[in-house]
Amino acid sequence: MADKNCPKCKGYGFTLTEEVYMGSPVTVPCICMLKEALKLQCEKAWKDLSSVPVDRKSPMIGKMKENLRLIASQTELAIHLRTAILSERNPTLNIRVVSDATLISAWLSNVSDDNKVDPDLIRDINVRGLEDLAEAPDLLIVRLGVKRARNSATSEVLIETIELRQHLNKATWIVEEPNKPLQEGHLAWSSALEDTLNGWKIYNVNGADSFATAQTKKKPNLSLDFKKAQL
Ligand SMILES: [Zn+2]
Repeated sequence: MADKNCPKCKGYGFTLTEEVYMGSPVTVPCICMLKEALKLQCEKAWKDLSSVPVDRKSPMIGKMKENLRLIASQTELAIHLRTAILSERNPTLNIRVVSDATLISAWLSNVSDDNKVDPDLIRDINVRGLEDLAEAPDLLIVRLGVKRARNSATSEVLIETIELRQHLNKATWIVEEPNKPLQEGHLAWSSALEDTLNGWKIYNVNGADSFATAQTKKKPNLSLDFKKAQL
């Protein structure tokens, strides 16, 4: 995964050191190998994530293994997540960003199209698609507020997902839209969900970053088409 145009290694993926061992020069992996791996990790987590800017002061740095709630717009989530990934420098971590709608579809895919889902039935569902989505990632990031229609299963599915992942000792981030806080009246809210999230730290990065705020103002229809940023 070396960068073909890398000025340091010319695409070989390693550089020579001054040292010699058993008659051969000692080589070290080039930094471009890590950069490429982190880029792939970003793209796997969320399409186009590798091209958003970073915020070196992000409070998300070092939080990849923590359960937390994050108040952020889509743009802000992208900036802070990419920053966290680049700071972590661990391309083997499996990270996924999903919407609440996607998560619910995965949970309900096995329960036909009956809207009245028995929580006990949900508990018994164990399909491969769900495992991939809710269990496999080392860090699962669930964006709330994407699903518009009320569905009584929403908070139940979130609770099941969180409990499943806590059982596996894997981290989950719950991301709330700044104008749709997770409180009574929110489509996903329930007192049971609030109990489940009890004790989770809440980070509010909305408007915290001047660059992100400026971007948001310029582009009211949020998208990830930022200009390329340097690693
Ligand atoms: Zn290189």
